Amino acid sequence: MTYTMKTYLIVGYTEPGAFYCPDCFAGPTKETGAVFAGDEFDSYPVCDCCGERCEDVALTLEGWEAEQRRLDNEDAEYEG
Ligand SMILES: [Zn+2]
Repeated sequence: MTYTMKTYLIVGYTEPGAFYCPDCFAGPTKETGAVFAGDEFDSYPVCDCCGERCEDVALTLEGWEAEQRRLDNEDAEYEG
């Protein structure tokens, strides 16, 4: 099967209280929601199945600031 989605790239799927990356997504239910590249989150969603962080979405300003703080902390640890 071949299909292309240029404008609405789906980067993940949601079920109530859960997020799945496209690799782990088993199939839609009536409660499935699609997550598109560019959708805004307060933090990067993490796949409930494989634990992979989906960084293809956009972050809200609040989420972006939290992510910067997280990265700053990581840098500080590496610098020792
Ligand atoms: Zn996954």
